[in-house]
Amino acid sequence: MKKWVYKFSAEQTDGNKDMKSLLGGKGANLAEMCAMKLSVPPGFTVTTEACLDFYKTNKEISKEIRDQMIEALGWVEKLTNKKFGDLENPLLFSVRSGARASMPGMMDTVLNLGLNDNTVLALAKKTNNPRFAWDSYRRFIQMFSNVVLGVNTSHLESNLEDLKEARGVHEDTALTAADLEELVKVYKQVLLEDHGVVFPQEPMEQLWRAVGAVFGSWNNNRAMKYREMNNIPHDWGTAVNIQSMVFGNMGDTCATGVCFTRDPSTGEKKFFGEFLVNAQGEDVVAGIRTPQPINNDSKMESNKHQKTLEEVMPKAYGDLVEDYKMLERHYKDMQDIEFTIENGKLWILQTRNAKRTVNAALKVAVDLVAEGLITEKEAILRIQPEDLNQLLHPRLDPKAKKILIATGLPASPGAASGQMVFTSAHAEEWHKNGKKVVLVRSETSPEDIGGMVASTGILTARGGMTSHAAVVARGMGKPCIAGCTALLINEKEKTLSVKGKVYKEGDFITFDGANGEVYEGVVPTIEAKITADFATFMKWADGVRRLRVRTNADTPEDTKVAVEFGAEGIGLCRTEHMFFAPERILAVREMIFAETEKDRKKALDKLLPFQRSDFKGIFKEMNGMPVNIRLLDPPLHEFLPHAEKDQQELATSLGISMKQVKERNDALHEFNPMLGHRGCRLAITYPEIYLMQVRAIIEAAIESDKEGVKVLPEIMIPLTSELREYTLIRNECKTEIEKVFKEKNHTVKYKMGTMLELPRACIMAGDIAKEAEFFSFGTNDLTQTTFGLSRDDAGKFLPSYTQKGIYPRDPFVSIDQEGVGFLMKYAIAEGKKTSTSIYAGICGEHGGEPQSVEFCHKIGLEYVSCSPFRVPIARLAAAQAALR
Ligand code: ADP
Ligand code: MG
Ligand code: MG
Repeated sequence: MKKWVYKFSAEQTDGNKDMKSLLGGKGANLAEMCAMKLSVPPGFTVTTEACLDFYKTNKEISKEIRDQMIEALGWVEKLTNKKFGDLENPLLFSVRSGARASMPGMMDTVLNLGLNDNTVLALAKKTNNPRFAWDSYRRFIQMFSNVVLGVNTSHLESNLEDLKEARGVHEDTALTAADLEELVKVYKQVLLEDHGVVFPQEPMEQLWRAVGAVFGSWNNNRAMKYREMNNIPHDWGTAVNIQSMVFGNMGDTCATGVCFTRDPSTGEKKFFGEFLVNAQGEDVVAGIRTPQPINNDSKMESNKHQKTLEEVMPKAYGDLVEDYKMLERHYKDMQDIEFTIENGKLWILQTRNAKRTVNAALKVAVDLVAEGLITEKEAILRIQPEDLNQLLHPRLDPKAKKILIATGLPASPGAASGQMVFTSAHAEEWHKNGKKVVLVRSETSPEDIGGMVASTGILTARGGMTSHAAVVARGMGKPCIAGCTALLINEKEKTLSVKGKVYKEGDFITFDGANGEVYEGVVPTIEAKITADFATFMKWADGVRRLRVRTNADTPEDTKVAVEFGAEGIGLCRTEHMFFAPERILAVREMIFAETEKDRKKALDKLLPFQRSDFKGIFKEMNGMPVNIRLLDPPLHEFLPHAEKDQQELATSLGISMKQVKERNDALHEFNPMLGHRGCRLAITYPEIYLMQVRAIIEAAIESDKEGVKVLPEIMIPLTSELREYTLIRNECKTEIEKVFKEKNHTVKYKMGTMLELPRACIMAGDIAKEAEFFSFGTNDLTQTTFGLSRDDAGKFLPSYTQKGIYPRDPFVSIDQEGVGFLMKYAIAEGKKTSTSIYAGICGEHGGEPQSVEFCHKIGLEYVSCSPFRVPIARLAAAQAALR
């Protein structure tokens, strides 16, 4: 018989932390903590395989699975000395979802399951605490209605609000047992009258339905959206944890809280957390009351006058400190821990590797190495390369004038600036229309995921550092301020009032997630500054990687940024970008309109000094690192004016008629420019263009060399697919270069090679390698031509291909390793057979995408090349590839 159920308790635990795919992250860690003998309420985990079975059997929990659950339930009854549904000492359960990867707030948990009209009385009597019993029951009805019955519980919540208002109290805790008993009646009535459901009373029925709902929630919209955003496969399934309840809502010696073993925002080594007395479950996260700090280190502006856990429950706090240290040592990483205190006794309900900002991640990784908990290599593998993006976020210009309107909690660092929107729907809509928006809300819930993705930053009036908004924003690397209590948000009217001033939707706002300050209007930003931890970390990464990392840069300015980010050369300098500057484009157009070779040369001579000085600038920044320059690539019509007005201007300045301009435009028109007269094909018909370019490159190299700048130019011919084509152009270029050497009486070293961006080029690579000194895979075009699809037109259908699982990922984002990758591997192998000294790199946008970088490492490329801001990402991805 298959094992579907894994038990966990201090006495017996079937699982461990390495069984995440079967038990989910939560279940695996609950099992592990039991093995560590921490106080964890006993329970059992129903596996992810049971979830997949549930979907296979038409959303039924099979008899075999039910039987194993019933057996485990009996086992928990024995351990706790309580009985499920009992009328003297009822056992209550939480039903908690838990997938392989942590999905905060994505799946729902039901607490206090097993309560009904009778067991609630038994619980009241047994604990001698009717208020607690009725509070638990009304919570259970609320959660069960939402998660299992699929009822929008905002009605129920407004009933709670109404009742508080009627009683003239602000907090739930001020309601009496009688109030809560009445509330339960109202809830059941609303369910019956508005939704036609009788609240299920039978505990076993409650359990089956809750488990079914958790399995079902794996495919709810917000879970699917989160998985899509994070590249989590849809076929993992979720486990369900059924755990005996402990209670933080029994009175003033009880509490519930969340803590981090280090500061999740900065990574600083201080124990940090929040808690609420007499509360349960998600109260802290949901921002229902302002949470108290667990210790002095956790104090903030909003709660600095409140008592700490250390002060109010010193014994439980002491135990928590012991446990967090043990957990961090055991897991060798910063933990995010959920706990509940029942009558002074501490229970640990969850631990997981904490989500953190990338700055915090770097600090923690570097500190853990210093503390001897992990090795440098382990540290390198701890950071997701993509996350380094956050580091490169701009900051607010400290010198800019700012109008401070409020201060909240610095929940996730980074500067955000944009137009205010008050609903997630508007955030998504405005974002689609190209607007930069800041999502402003009282608090966020998992329904807001889409709106949060669409916003540059998230600002909430309620909630603490562990609120939904804060946790999710940090995970996304988005700036966030939470608990900005001075803001009065009117969602209906779409206004924000603060200190008597009213702002409307669409007004501009700026905030700094690092210090919690909110400003009026747009505040200018400045580039990110790189920390010492980052430098240390990247040094380790550079120490282990084999793959070189170059950059795609066309100007000395970009080159400079790239060098600061650690680029080791230029993998692609697109010369045509240099053609578009206003003073140059005219000469380019003149060249295009030239009727004779002589006139063409005349126009080209005007361009030469511009190109030469650009190359000189780039050589200077690169000083000794290789600079790969691609000769002209796009079809000539891209340089012609299309607007009537511009055409007129061109006609005037060239002294020709509008008719001639139009005729030339028509003559250059192509049905399929991507496959047309471009790349080296231009040089087959107009050799003088490339000759001007190689002259500019070599003259720049000679001048630089004379000035003591080291130069290593690589001249690259685009779009080749045949050795004879390559050789012809190469020979012409070489002759011109020899001429320059003679004229200047000075030589420099250079290399000539080609781009491989057509399937035929890859197939013929062995031949082409007879003459080419290097290859560079232009994987953007190679992807287009291998798939036979145009990237510019693919937007209409490619998303359906990824949604339907035909392609695992967009092949323009991550290299198609099987198809395009096959051509690359073949080309390298054939090239190496012909020439032992040939080397290859990649210059498509894939060069900065971690999975593609790993692939490039595996197939033996010499380097990857990517945009300047992605250089650190590629460096780290290359290091991780080398370690894996
Ligand atoms: P999430 O994955 O959304 O964090 P959890 O399953 O961790 O959901 O449950 C949310 C909260 O419910 C927990 O942090 C804890 O406070 C409370 N909770 C869960 N199980 C129990 C339990 N057995 N006893 C008491 N509280 C519980
Ligand atoms: Mg939750
Ligand atoms: Mg949790």
